[in-house]
Amino acid sequence: AFRNKLEFFAAAKISSSFPPPDLPEIAFAGRSNVGKSSLLNALTRQWGVVRTSDKPGLTQSINFFNLGPKLCMVDLPGYGFAYAKEEVKEAWEELVKEYVMTRVGLKRVCLLIDTKWGMKPRDLELIDLMERYETKYQIVLTKTDLVFPIDVARRAMQIEENLKAKKSAVQPLMMVSSKTGAGIRSLRTVLANVARF
Ligand code: GDP
Repeated sequence: AFRNKLEFFAAAKISSSFPPPDLPEIAFAGRSNVGKSSLLNALTRQWGVVRTSDKPGLTQSINFFNLGPKLCMVDLPGYGFAYAKEEVKEAWEELVKEYVMTRVGLKRVCLLIDTKWGMKPRDLELIDLMERYETKYQIVLTKTDLVFPIDVARRAMQIEENLKAKKSAVQPLMMVSSKTGAGIRSLRTVLANVARF
């Protein structure tokens, strides 16, 4: 799956412009600057198709990318940057909620968490939403190269502890560095299985 060409397919600012749900989808979510674009680039080995964000939080659209004929990769808008206005937050919530609620082909959401900073309230809000709609999701710890291995392990344990009470839709946590490539192959394998290739 991940050898296929990545092609931009559609962008949606409102749910009525979501493309038809013809393909299985894997979505990527997280705070602005968490390393989402870098991860998409590393996973697909295709640089520049998914733009690295220059102005955090300005991309308030859901972007759909086809990865070959059988899988759609979905870039959910980043959230949680400090100077977002309340209406930006509300628009984000509405859009992502509609997406999670309605997408029949949605197989997995990768919720990216910066290893150094851990989970924040907005991450937990998204987790609650996914639990409510029984959307399978997994935590992906990003930028593991920036902290000591012991702290990566500690962060993973802390998050797993936090999620223990929920645990209906949550899938095993993974850890990656887009910079060194650590964990990228494992994540590719997991996601390829999710999409059933
Ligand atoms: P996005 O806003 O979530 O799409 O985040 P980006 O992919 O644009 O990354 C935000 C910043 O973090 C950029 O300066 C990246 O170079 C940096 N970054 C992303 N992934 C990694 C990583 O694995 N390791 C390190 N050290 N930096 C990273």
